Amino acid sequence: MSKKKSSVLLVYTGGTIGMMQDAKTGELKPFNFNYLAEQIPELKKSDISLSSVAFKKPIDSSNMHPQIWIELAELIRTEYEKFDGFVILHGSDTMSFTASALSFMLENLNKPVILTGSQLPIGIIRTDGKENLVTAIEIAGAKQNGKPVVNEVCIYFEYKLYRGNRTHKYNAEHFNAFESPNYPPLAEAGVHLKYNHQAMAKASAKKLTVYNSLNSDIAILKMFPGINKNVVEAILSAKNLKAIVLETFGAGNCTTEKWLTDLLAASIKSGKIILNVTQCNAGAVEQGKYETSAQLKKIGVVGGKDITSEAAVTKLMFLLAQKLNKKEITRLLTKSLRGEITA
Ligand code: ASP
Repeated sequence: MSKKKSSVLLVYTGGTIGMMQDAKTGELKPFNFNYLAEQIPELKKSDISLSSVAFKKPIDSSNMHPQIWIELAELIRTEYEKFDGFVILHGSDTMSFTASALSFMLENLNKPVILTGSQLPIGIIRTDGKENLVTAIEIAGAKQNGKPVVNEVCIYFEYKLYRGNRTHKYNAEHFNAFESPNYPPLAEAGVHLKYNHQAMAKASAKKLTVYNSLNSDIAILKMFPGINKNVVEAILSAKNLKAIVLETFGAGNCTTEKWLTDLLAASIKSGKIILNVTQCNAGAVEQGKYETSAQLKKIGVVGGKDITSEAAVTKLMFLLAQKLNKKEITRLLTKSLRGEITA
């Protein structure tokens, strides 16, 4: 009995994986997809049928933009029925933002969308890009009983598969560039690919819904001892600002100086949403645990639980673009929409 080959669409957006050194300046610049494909003859041996599309102008992911997330989500909508899975080649710098944004924009996903990239360009002998790409493709094509094994937006990097909206790039040097401090890896690649089925999103019975609008009228306000009133005032009074991710200390704490509480309270009164996220790598916001967060709870700051800043920003972009009122957005911020927080 012949088994049907899995089909995967590879989307090349740019990033170090496909970069080459500029001969004159020595800078790394994105190169075109043909170069990348030439460097990995292994791809031809794969028993997965692979198709590819590449950005006309591949980008360093530091130039990533919500408009491109919309284009990526639209591409997945258009190609959804034709492929069993998707691999997005992406720079590692903003990969966690893209993975988080796509997770919100693709509701009831029943196929894998795996983002990967590398710390060293593919043409370099010690590149980490080959393993990342080859295994990401294997995961994107993996099936059990004829159904995709993975049903969510993930990042595969350095032998680990993570839920995308739980990740954070924490290392610019090591091949192991990502971590998912508040959620276990969904799979680990060694001699065998071991899936953590219990941690993975279940397939949905509903049809895929693609949301194609985002609103980026958002600021991140990071607390530090001695933060200046003028700076906070300037940020909170930015034109069109709709929501603020407040990066606080520890379990959601910040200075109780009256001027800060007053400014935040006035902002909330004027209709803005403030989401409290911890600066710590791991753990959760618990407003009211300490005296230094009770004031935030009192004025209506929303506790972000164990959400990452990347997921907080993109969840707000997603919710602000829907026709929802402030009360509804606030409610959804404390709910897990795509597994981004521990409910
Ligand atoms: N600057 C690169 C990018 O994010 C870094 C990488 O790919 O790892 O596009």
